[in-house]
Amino acid sequence: MKKLPLHTRILIGMGIGLIIGSLGIAFKLSGFITDWIKPFGTIFINLLKLIAIPLILASLISGVSNLRDISKLSRIGGKTLALYLITTVLAITIGLVFVNTIKPGNFLSKEKQLELSQRYASDANLRVTDAQKLTESGPLQVVVDIVPENIFGAAAVNRNMLQVIFFAVMFGIALLMTPEQKSLPVKSFFDGLNEIILKLVDMVMRYAPIGVMALLAALMTDVAGDDPRQALELFGALGVYSVTVLLSLAAMVLIVYPLAIRLFTSLPVKTFLKGVLPAQIMGFTTSSSAATLPVTMECAEKNLRIKDEISSFVLPLGATINMDGTSIHQAVSAVFIAQAFGQDLSLADQLMIILTATLSSIGAAAVPSAGLITLVIVLGAIGVSPEGLALIIAIDRPLDMCRTIVNVTGDTVVASIVATSENGFEKPAEPN
Ligand code: ASP
Repeated sequence: MKKLPLHTRILIGMGIGLIIGSLGIAFKLSGFITDWIKPFGTIFINLLKLIAIPLILASLISGVSNLRDISKLSRIGGKTLALYLITTVLAITIGLVFVNTIKPGNFLSKEKQLELSQRYASDANLRVTDAQKLTESGPLQVVVDIVPENIFGAAAVNRNMLQVIFFAVMFGIALLMTPEQKSLPVKSFFDGLNEIILKLVDMVMRYAPIGVMALLAALMTDVAGDDPRQALELFGALGVYSVTVLLSLAAMVLIVYPLAIRLFTSLPVKTFLKGVLPAQIMGFTTSSSAATLPVTMECAEKNLRIKDEISSFVLPLGATINMDGTSIHQAVSAVFIAQAFGQDLSLADQLMIILTATLSSIGAAAVPSAGLITLVIVLGAIGVSPEGLALIIAIDRPLDMCRTIVNVTGDTVVASIVATSENGFEKPAEPN
């Protein structure tokens, strides 16, 4: 089993989970599964939650403090960051439009939603208190809440992830502004810490096949009880949720990006699509923008003829902070889980999703499943129980592969736009 690639092992885990779940339903063993199998899934979710705050902290501090080039390349840097931000917000908006129109969570019956929310929504009470607080406080309270009064207090509760992000960005900027002689050891410390946390992610993901197996089996018996038809209802909803994610991702790759290339670059759309294909394939197979980076750079430089000075700045930065696919996935998943729990999301909640999905896609590392971990931030911010991850974890891998395609394509689109505005092509790309 060890030699198989991780995604194959996760798929096998899913298969075994399905079999155990079906047997559990058929032989009315839901009690046994809850007592003896489900805890292994809970451990997996706890592990993911455990590494979320250290991951965000280390990856953001080292990411921001590595932006030293921005002071040199401030014009290109400013443009690049603005484009990354615009495309991410656009991507989230597209995801929100699709998920609010298709409403995959409503493919579960009202009774099932109530049951799921009672089973998983341990934060439901918190949400009621939050809602009460919100009606009592002024409109700017949301902004006030982003600024923590104590960093340890903020880091102690996963719901306060936004406060941790705020601190990490402030810290990173301060690090950037401190003379190198003093800041270097701290910077190296955070760079090293970042590497170590990525190893931790790696370790947790090794456990993923078992976690996914346990979660899927428990999910089936939890939902179905002794009635198999109810499990089918859940899988139907999960199917529609996956289609919603895929449609939003497809809209980005097939409509938004080609349009942006056509409107804002001198590249023919066909040249772009052909040129970026190897990076897309690599992104799909590795599920990691970081692992794909060398291919993305080669595509940009050889196929699209973007000058090295632009691609070597824009693309590594993009691989780290620009994840349009991840942000789409976070928006759709957060709304789906809320729908599945029968929670209505207000306009303020949807705006909060735009804000937090932007931040957490920036904070997500460019490795497999990172987006799933930082989804905890979005869920926390809109008061949806992070236990809801259990609903979607089992089918995350294939979606991760697809969102990574969008992540690497988005970086290349921005590199092409920046290159066009900076006269940054080696020579005009030949139309094919
Ligand atoms: N796998 C994604 C990437 O590396 C991140 C994620 O969404 O999990 O780009």
